[in-house]
Amino acid sequence: MTPTIALDGMGKAHGFLRLPHSRDDSAWGHVMIPICVIANGQGPTVLLTGGNHGDEYEGPIALHDLAYRLEAADVAGRVIILPQMNTPAFLAARRTSPIDGGNMNRAFPGDPRGTVTQKIAAYLNDAILPMADAVLDFHSGGKTLDFLPFAASHVLSDPMQDAACATAARAFGAPFTVKMLEIDDTGMFDGAVERAGKTFVTTELGGAGMARAETVAIAKRGVRNLLTHLGVLRGAVELRESRLLDMPDADCFTFAETNGLYEALIDLGAPLRAGQALARIWPVEATGKPPLDLVAKRDGLLVARHAPGLIKSGDCAAVVAVDLGLA
Ligand code: CA
Repeated sequence: MTPTIALDGMGKAHGFLRLPHSRDDSAWGHVMIPICVIANGQGPTVLLTGGNHGDEYEGPIALHDLAYRLEAADVAGRVIILPQMNTPAFLAARRTSPIDGGNMNRAFPGDPRGTVTQKIAAYLNDAILPMADAVLDFHSGGKTLDFLPFAASHVLSDPMQDAACATAARAFGAPFTVKMLEIDDTGMFDGAVERAGKTFVTTELGGAGMARAETVAIAKRGVRNLLTHLGVLRGAVELRESRLLDMPDADCFTFAETNGLYEALIDLGAPLRAGQALARIWPVEATGKPPLDLVAKRDGLLVARHAPGLIKSGDCAAVVAVDLGLA
């Protein structure tokens, strides 16, 4: 992997991370991953990433917008912007790479001698991440999930780092803020960043393979809020009301155990009681068959749902989060 711009230069530069990829349609071809570096004066380095999964759009929109508009004079420190981290997946509008099937968020710490996705992960892990003090990695639900818009941090064993991440997630200012307990972060960018001791914020801002005006506005405001909170941008964080959500255990998740037609019974953000039906699955082989109701296992509100009209056995049907009140 070769950057086409100096990553440690001052001022504003647009370029690429260029990865050799010899293939049928381009013998000496490369994968070109857009990168923008904006540096000025003294301050922290913040790495901003979108397109970790290629079918999630709020992050790429907010980060292309930021890379276009932000000038060096606006910055104290350094901002490194990768709007479409897994560029092959992003250009194919897919969660995973069409080159090697690689899921970027299961590829860390990567392998410089591995597949294209593993090589991208390795370069981010070994060359880019050590430069950063803080990382914001944008996610949304992709084509198959839709989320209430939230920023999140993980429960971490180091209390200082845990507090720094939680405070940064709150400063993002999404309508919801989540503290997540990650049981298995094998291969995830999140874990790689956190184990390196950095401040880390992630998001889920919508989904269904598209981006809404409301969620794009949350992403644009959130990234500027975070940069302001970290001291890279001047001014005050635009504080918004945010509700704190918790997803404490496996009872939050409902998975389909049959195929069929997905009928939502409530919408995102609606309150639920344990035992309440949240969706039903209609068999589609014939008329006259009863539907199967999917039932919430705990009180809370609907924070995510299956997005496509058809659902398959094993798909995540719904996620219920506990509402802890105003953050
Ligand atoms: Ca994602």
